[in-house]
Amino acid sequence: MVGQYKEVRVLRIIGLIGGMSWESSSEYYRRVNMEVKRRLGSPHSCHCVLYSVEFARMQTLQHAGHWDTLAETMIDAAHSLERAGAQCIVICSNTMHQLVPDLEQAISLPILHIGDAAAQFLRGIDAETVGLLGTRFTMERPFLRQRLESHGLRVKVPSEQQRHMVHRVIYEELVDGRFLEDSRRQFQAVIADLATAGCQAVILGCTEIPLLIKPEDSCLPIVDTTGVHARAAVEWALSE
Ligand code: GLU
Repeated sequence: MVGQYKEVRVLRIIGLIGGMSWESSSEYYRRVNMEVKRRLGSPHSCHCVLYSVEFARMQTLQHAGHWDTLAETMIDAAHSLERAGAQCIVICSNTMHQLVPDLEQAISLPILHIGDAAAQFLRGIDAETVGLLGTRFTMERPFLRQRLESHGLRVKVPSEQQRHMVHRVIYEELVDGRFLEDSRRQFQAVIADLATAGCQAVILGCTEIPLLIKPEDSCLPIVDTTGVHARAAVEWALSE
């Protein structure tokens, strides 16, 4: 009956910095709501605020190396979320976790790190050596790898040529909502090489990759960073 709740509780408010790209942010929004519904039942939904940036500008600044300007934009977004009532920050992009230290200096809200969510999932499946797919920024810079290593994981990345392909597909296809069979096959070959190199799982460390690669497409167990991050956020929102 309308107006009857199985449980009445106040959920903490999740602040999502999205738009990087909106293809994955809409998935975050769907996942956090599905997870609250799964845990509390219908008609419960996620209490959240989404701040969505203009991705063309972000992508241009990333590739031009203007990370200081990007940090300012992310800090502004976090402040806007805080003013709107958010009680934590979820950055809906692996790549933009590079700026976590800048954000941590500028804001007081907790940041729920995507690397911690991935590590928690990997602990659950007993994987220690993992492959990492993502943008070149994510695969080649230390910010995510080191966070994963701090949880005792060993991280491997694909070859230079494969990293180039993965980066290109992300920025030319996935953020544009195009999920092509040929690209899926190329990603499958990369994952097969990571398995040969001893990886026990592969982190889809770009929030659009889970839209291209599903568990059945991969010879290794996948870590869907969008899914595990959204779940971690709900876990946080429901905890006292
Ligand atoms: N969504 C992406 C990620 O998880 C890439 C887009 C971006 O540059 O933020 O890394």
